[in-house]
Amino acid sequence: MAQTLLKVSGLKVAYGGIKAVKGVDLEVREKELVTLIGSNGAGKTTTMKAVTGTLAMEGGDIEYLGKSIKGKGSWDLVREGLVMVPEGRGVFTRMTITENLQMGAYIRSDKAGIAADIERMFTIFPRLRERKDQLAGTMSGGEQQMLAMGRALMSQPKVLLLDEPSMGLSPIMVDKIFEVVRDVSAQGVTILLVEQNARRALQIADRGYVMDSGEITMNGLGKDMLDDPKVRAAYLGE
Ligand code: ATP
Repeated sequence: MAQTLLKVSGLKVAYGGIKAVKGVDLEVREKELVTLIGSNGAGKTTTMKAVTGTLAMEGGDIEYLGKSIKGKGSWDLVREGLVMVPEGRGVFTRMTITENLQMGAYIRSDKAGIAADIERMFTIFPRLRERKDQLAGTMSGGEQQMLAMGRALMSQPKVLLLDEPSMGLSPIMVDKIFEVVRDVSAQGVTILLVEQNARRALQIADRGYVMDSGEITMNGLGKDMLDDPKVRAAYLGE
């Protein structure tokens, strides 16, 4: 079996008195595409932020590449290949597309490799090449999502966490984003994907977890979960 790259055990996170994550266990193995689905406010984003070091955990542990990363900040974790694309994207609005991609490679010093990877991003996302000198803040939501993913890929992540990449996008953009997530996964990047669009997420995922009120309530193979009557009724709108 493939090596476990990310192992979350008994994770608890609170905002003041509000317990948002109440003892979550999940793991992601090398090259897997795992999705975390669940209703609004279930604690999915909070879980991702704790994993990537932007929120402190109250209890439990997170192991990355076999070692605890408790207390490490996101800058250190990006260097180690654990990278999140946040909901709302967070591109540098006053920089151009190309500058944003260059910023994504801030931990690297291989100039030729960086240039080659920018070319690779332009091949994955032709729209970014067309707009390469445009300020990121003037791009559409879907274009900014592509840029945010491209910028994250520029850091050569081992594990990429995507928080609702399809949120607010037109149907054509949603198709494109899911296609890119599947392609990036096929190229060997390990992915943890949080999505509102549970059906599409489960269709491309190897495995899935369902989160409800701060807890994992179900998990299984993506294809089995698509057929599960409880998942269908609660999360697939049937
Ligand atoms: P969504 O799909 O709507 O983004 P989610 O599953 O990602 O939801 P979280 O954003 O992790 O859920 O929120 C989990 C709970 O924690 C919610 O009840 C939310 O209101 C609460 N919460 C999130 N951020 C904060 C904060 N900064 N301060 C206080 N409570 C928060």
